[in-house]
Amino acid sequence: MKVLVINCGSSSLKYQLLDMADESLLCKGLVERIGIEGSILTHTKIGQDKFILETPMKDHTEAIGHVIDALTDADHGVVKSMDEIGAVGHRVVHGGEKFAESVLITDDVIKAIEECSDLAPLHNPANLLGIAACQKLMPKTPMVAVFDTAFHQTMPPESYIYALPYEYYEKYGVRRYGFHGTSHRYVAQRAAAMLGKPLEELKIITCHLGNGASVAAIKNGKCYDTSMGLTPLEGLVMGTRCGDIDPAIIGFIASKEGKTIAEMDAIMNKKSGLLGVSGISSDSRDVEAAANEGNYRADLAQKLNYHRVKHYIGAYIAEMNGCDAIVFTAGLGENSKTARAAICADMEYLGIELCGKCNDIRGEEAFINKASSKVKILLIPTNEELMIAKDTVEKVEG
Ligand code: ADP
Repeated sequence: MKVLVINCGSSSLKYQLLDMADESLLCKGLVERIGIEGSILTHTKIGQDKFILETPMKDHTEAIGHVIDALTDADHGVVKSMDEIGAVGHRVVHGGEKFAESVLITDDVIKAIEECSDLAPLHNPANLLGIAACQKLMPKTPMVAVFDTAFHQTMPPESYIYALPYEYYEKYGVRRYGFHGTSHRYVAQRAAAMLGKPLEELKIITCHLGNGASVAAIKNGKCYDTSMGLTPLEGLVMGTRCGDIDPAIIGFIASKEGKTIAEMDAIMNKKSGLLGVSGISSDSRDVEAAANEGNYRADLAQKLNYHRVKHYIGAYIAEMNGCDAIVFTAGLGENSKTARAAICADMEYLGIELCGKCNDIRGEEAFINKASSKVKILLIPTNEELMIAKDTVEKVEG
C-alpha cells in the first residue's frame, strides 16, 4: 500500500509518500506560506532535483490540490492517479486522554480532536484543516490520525499528575501529556531490534534532542515518564524554550517588568532556551561554534542543555530501577558527537560508558558504548513519517 503522510501546520504542510511494500520513500515535500503572500511548494521526487511551484494558495485545500498535482505529474510525480494511494496518515499533536493509540478518522474522531484543541490551540486546529482538505479532495481514501501524545498515555498517575489542586485536573485536564511520542516509540522499537530483545523486556531512555526536545522513560515497552508536560514547554532546555523553571519566576518577572501572562508565555516559548542564555542563536550549531571561540554565555547555554539531559537520565534510571539502553535521536542527538559525549560523561557509576571512537559518527544507527558499558548507548535516526505510515496501514487493514 502507498501511504501519504501529512503533517499540517497553520501556514505550512509537510508531506511524504511511502510505498509500504518495502517501506521506501517515493517523494517528500513542503508547502509554506499557505494563506499568506508568497505561497510556495517544494516537491522532491527521490533521485530527482527539487520541483518548486510559487503560486497563491489561499487555504489548505488549495495547497493539498497542488500537492496532488505534484504527486501525479508526468515528470516529477510518483503515481499515475490518486487511486494508487491506499490511505493518508495525519500527524495530530494533541489527543488528550481520549487517544492512547492511532485511530481511523471518523466524524466522532474529528469531534474528539476538536475537543482537545483547548490543550493545543496552535496545533490541533491546523491538523484539522489538513484532515478536512484531504477528505474534500480524496473522499474515498481512508485516513488515520497519529497523535504525538498517544504513546505517553501509559504513564502512571504519579508520573502525570501535577501537585496542584486536583480539581484543575478534573475540570480542565491539567496534567502531563508528553509529546514527540511517535519519535520515542519509533526509536524504542528500533532499539529493541538492535538489541535483539523484545521491547517488553527492556528499560530504555530515549532522548529526542531537536529544536524541541524531550526525554522518555520506556519500561517494558510502555512509556513510564516523559519530560514534556501539559504543553511542550516543560523539561529540557530547547532552542527557544526554557524547559523546567521555578514557576514562581513567572509572577516575579511579570511584576518587575510589567508583563502580561501572554507576554511571559511568549518569552518562555520563543526567547528562552539556547537563544535566551547565549544571546546568539537557537541553533545548537551556532551556539557550539561560539562556545568553541570562547563565548561565555554560549558555553553556559550548552552546559545547561547537557546538564538537564543528564539530570533526566539519572531521574529515569532511578524511576525504572535500571536501564538497558539510552537512545539519542533528532537533530542534535543524531548529529552532535559533542552533545552525546558531554551528556554521557562521568556516569560510570550508573554503568554508562561512551566509546569516543564509536561516537565519531552521525545520522546512522550505531552502538556508541564501550564494550564494558552495562548500559548500551545507541544512536538511532528518528523516522516519525515511517511510524505514521506503519500505523496507518495497520489501522486501515485492521
Ligand atoms: P525540529 O524537528 O525540532 O525542528 P531537528 O530535529 O531538526 O529539530 O533538530 C534541530 C537541532 O539539531 C538544531 O539545534 C540543530 O543545530 C541541530 N543539528 C542539526 N544538524 C546538526 C549537525 N549536523 N550538528 C549538530 N547539530 C545539528
